[in-house]
Amino acid sequence: MTCAYVFSEDASLAAGLVTAATAVADRVHLVCPGTPPGTPPAGATSVVVLDGPPGTPPGSGVRPEAYAPALARLAGERNPDVVLIGATVSGREIAARVAAALGLALVSEATALRTLPDGGWSGERVTWAGAAVQTETWQGPAVVTMAPGHHVDPAPAPDRDADAVPVETVPAQTDTRVRVVSRAVREREAVDLADAARIVCVGMGAGTLADLGLATDLADALGAELACTRPVAEDREWLAAERYIGISGARVRPDLYIGLGVSGQVQHTAGIRDAKVVVGINTDPDAPLSGASDYAVVGDLREIVPLLTAEIRAARGSRTGPRS
Ligand SMILES: Cc1cc2nc3c(=O)[nH]c(=O)nc-3n(C[C@H](O)[C@H](O)[C@H](O)COP(=O)(O)OP(=O)(O)OC[C@H]3O[C@@H](n4cnc5c(N)ncnc54)[C@H](O)[C@@H]3O)c2cc1C
Repeated sequence: MTCAYVFSEDASLAAGLVTAATAVADRVHLVCPGTPPGTPPAGATSVVVLDGPPGTPPGSGVRPEAYAPALARLAGERNPDVVLIGATVSGREIAARVAAALGLALVSEATALRTLPDGGWSGERVTWAGAAVQTETWQGPAVVTMAPGHHVDPAPAPDRDADAVPVETVPAQTDTRVRVVSRAVREREAVDLADAARIVCVGMGAGTLADLGLATDLADALGAELACTRPVAEDREWLAAERYIGISGARVRPDLYIGLGVSGQVQHTAGIRDAKVVVGINTDPDAPLSGASDYAVVGDLREIVPLLTAEIRAARGSRTGPRS
């Protein structure tokens, strides 16, 4: 009989993981940090609540150092075939700590999980910024993280008495070495790149704030959102983190994307796969973005962008006129 323990602090992710686990395990135990779900998800054999460490304020997040030892202890005592953990920021850290504590294999960011005829397991994960799918196989128990967005949608909520699923409470560990001394909500810029119809993206080839101004003018003339590559946001801090595109940033699908001084590394272009028309402006004809563009303009953005902006403004009659 195959047994899975599922853990995520995100209730809907946890429910999806329970559904995924029922395809490979006969018994699926849902482990929840803090509070049990109102209705246990379909397929859950039981619910185990890891009671928050004393003094944990409600909604204060899942601290890996508090929950990982408790989950490792539980898994160590009950020896499931797989511990399936939601690949959130906390979940990834908890998975690594549990795997290390129990000496188990760690399979990261699986998008599909299967049992094999020889008794082993296999999992798939997307790699090379979405360009390939890698299949990993293993024998014996393992800790597996599943990525948000790739987990199975939860099965419909069961029409049953919630009391029919046993719920037990297990204390989480108190770790006094780390104390949360303050919390602050991070200010986020209200920008929705995912739904932008036009995007002007600034890369490191824009070397000065005057170059950024040229890009802003072009975006303004086009009625486009201004975006950037990761180093422009994270290293130069010219634009907010919400504005960078790529594998670790926003995924966009505009009708028009114009990259200014963007080399087009795969970590960036993974975010523009669904763009309809891609224009690259770059001094280097061999830049990867030049090869991947519908229109590759080879030249200095300082010369080309003002010309382009002027042409667009002229074609539209006025900067503030109606846009289409
Ligand atoms: C794990 C990981 C995740 C990452 N995730 C992301 C991500 O989500 N998004 C992202 O963007 N990056 C990401 N990166 C970084 C990525 O690998 C690249 O380093 C980054 O995208 C390069 O940014 P860039 O094109 O602006 O700069 P560069 O690679 O330095 O390119 C600058 C380009 O500008 C051109 N240029 C220079 N001067 C001019 C000029 N005057 N006119 C026109 N062109 C000019 C150059 O020829 C060059 O092609 C990630 C990296 C790692 C390791």
